Amino acid sequence: MRTAYQYRLRLTTGQQATIDEWLELCRRQYNYRLGERFDWWEQNRCDVNACPLICYLPELKDKPDFYSQKRDLVNSKQLFPEYKDLPSHTLQDVISRVDQTFERWLKGDSTGKRSGKPRFKGQGRYRSLSFPDPVKPEHIDGKFIQLPKLGQLKLILHRPIPSGFKIKTATITKKADGYYVTLSLQDVSVPVLMPELPVMANTIGIDVGLKSFLVTDDGEAVDIPQPYRKAEKNLKRRQRSLSRKKKGSNRRRKAIKRVAKAHLKVANQRKDFHYKTAKKLLNKGKHIGHEALNIKGIARSRMAKSTQDAGWGQFLQILSIKAERAGLLTIAVNPNGTSQDCSTCGHKVPKKIQDRWHSCPNCGCELNRDHNAAINIKHRAVGHSVLKAQATPDGIPGVTEKPALYA
Ligand SMILES: [Zn+2]
Repeated sequence: MRTAYQYRLRLTTGQQATIDEWLELCRRQYNYRLGERFDWWEQNRCDVNACPLICYLPELKDKPDFYSQKRDLVNSKQLFPEYKDLPSHTLQDVISRVDQTFERWLKGDSTGKRSGKPRFKGQGRYRSLSFPDPVKPEHIDGKFIQLPKLGQLKLILHRPIPSGFKIKTATITKKADGYYVTLSLQDVSVPVLMPELPVMANTIGIDVGLKSFLVTDDGEAVDIPQPYRKAEKNLKRRQRSLSRKKKGSNRRRKAIKRVAKAHLKVANQRKDFHYKTAKKLLNKGKHIGHEALNIKGIARSRMAKSTQDAGWGQFLQILSIKAERAGLLTIAVNPNGTSQDCSTCGHKVPKKIQDRWHSCPNCGCELNRDHNAAINIKHRAVGHSVLKAQATPDGIPGVTEKPALYA
């Protein structure tokens, strides 16, 4: 089992300066290596219909890959001796980040999903340093963590590291309100739980919507807290004040920080809500069926604001991770027609987006629209419906497909 704990760091001014400098060095290294990849790509791609018969052919270079770029770090260190100050594995991690984003763009990840074109990182956009070596237990005590070439860093151990776990890696992240260290923990002794088959009795369906954050098939609703709207006024005021500041001024720099903090606050509030809601749902001890949401599609539409506000993508991701740990499944089902079909008889009852009530002329079923949808989702999750669940998790993070075992 793998998990991550994050702790706040209390750094000395000197340590902060060192980390800031390293982040900047890594950012430059990242951009340089990304540039190398793009150069090669530009010179070696050729559309059949776009290449002139006579054209300048550059000298063919080897394709830069993870290993060649890693070997080339020696040259970086020779040209810019300051790179010698960094732990070598931290620097190698930069290369592997370049490798990952580039490969994900060209080939896609393990599921074949391709990401957008990698971007060069502007000032301050490179925010974390990885320490891929395992942290030994003696290198972390109640108040300090020892990291290579940084020495002792003071941290606030607000909760103890669970026993039986090994610390695999450490990552230092710079956020708007300070520095954090994230420890990736692993316990090999925890067996992977084999979940039972989802059936009607041990499964619930949830419908996520705009009216409520979600509705279960029991008709229970969890409302959307809209921290963004609430904090929006505050954020807007800060943004207005920022726009009045002269570029490059000290006051502008401070105003940027204030805006970033307001954003962070909103994000933290939202995440907290997601964790609490996921916990409440999983406490029922049942598998959870949900719609395979096309978040990208919704985000482009008029409902964009509410979507981002509610952050369903993040919620489903959290839900799937927490469920797995509890030995439960999250099942993404085909969302087509979940709100239109009658949950009792399967009759199609067309509704517009503003129709909030489901009233079936065929069987006389009367239900709240989202409640009806949640029941349909539950049916699909256990494979009861005629429209058997065919999840199409397109661009949705954290969506788990039905394991092949249950197909
Ligand atoms: Zn009906």
